[in-house]
Amino acid sequence: MPRVLVVGALGRMGQCVRAAISETPRLELVAAIEAHGHPGVGSSIDDGIEVSDDPKAVLPRCDVAIDFTTPAATLVIMRAAAEAGVAYVCGTTGFSETQRAQIGDLAARIPVVHAPNFSVSVNILAWLTREAARRLGAGYDAELVELHHSEKRDAPSGTSLQLAEAIAAARDQLLADQLVLVRSGNIGARPEGAIGIQTLRGGDVAGEHSVLFIGQGERLELVHRASTRDHFARGAVRAAEWLAGRDPGLYPIERVFGLESD
Ligand code: NAP
Repeated sequence: MPRVLVVGALGRMGQCVRAAISETPRLELVAAIEAHGHPGVGSSIDDGIEVSDDPKAVLPRCDVAIDFTTPAATLVIMRAAAEAGVAYVCGTTGFSETQRAQIGDLAARIPVVHAPNFSVSVNILAWLTREAARRLGAGYDAELVELHHSEKRDAPSGTSLQLAEAIAAARDQLLADQLVLVRSGNIGARPEGAIGIQTLRGGDVAGEHSVLFIGQGERLELVHRASTRDHFARGAVRAAEWLAGRDPGLYPIERVFGLESD
């Protein structure tokens, strides 16, 4: 049975991941790490697992890591996992292009799944979004709205960027050429082909994403609303089961969930 390390084990997502692991008989939680200086380091959780702040000490007894932390922390720990030959499920968001390239390099040494959203239904939303963009064709303006809790550090959400990518790919566009994140002042008419994302923040919202295809006299809306974080964690645990023991490489989440396009 694959042995799992949870990185950021005392964080919001880390706690959900530990609960999701306890629901499956197919994975064993064997180690937990937290940031150096976190008050929980040294404490005992989940029937006797000591929270460590030393990835190199715990990685040799693990097969797969599940990480929901920060981009800087993820890159340090993924590097150590590559040294130790440990597979990596990465749910952290907010990476720069350079940091993404570093993840790609590390995936030459270990199997990695990196997804901005591990919810199965959100990945089905991405699939529906791609299909809608492809089949609607020209004449429909694409806008996305995302709403998250007030503690979220990165904006726009990684999921909204994933959805915007799906639209750009379906239209044979480069997202960087079409993305509009800010509208203010005398902005003029909407550029044809633009893909807008509006970011909202507040309260304890686990995550909401709306994709709008706005035509003349009609509008198609695809919406996903998360009221807890549990489904992200269950998807990440499903990915860990799938990933452990595979060859090195960066595996798309669509492959894990069987949602690859024909
Ligand atoms: P959070 O509650 O702040 O949890 C992050 C945890 O990681 C904290 O306990 C933090 O400790 C810890 N950490 C920081 N540096 C570390 C290090 N070097 N080693 C080990 N642990 C470290 O945040 P969250 O809400 O769980 O979200 C975490 C990430 O997951 C964010 O990027 C978020 O956008 C993303 N996320 C992704 C999905 C998805 O499906 N892909 C879903 C939800 C969230 P401190 O508190 O001491 O800093």
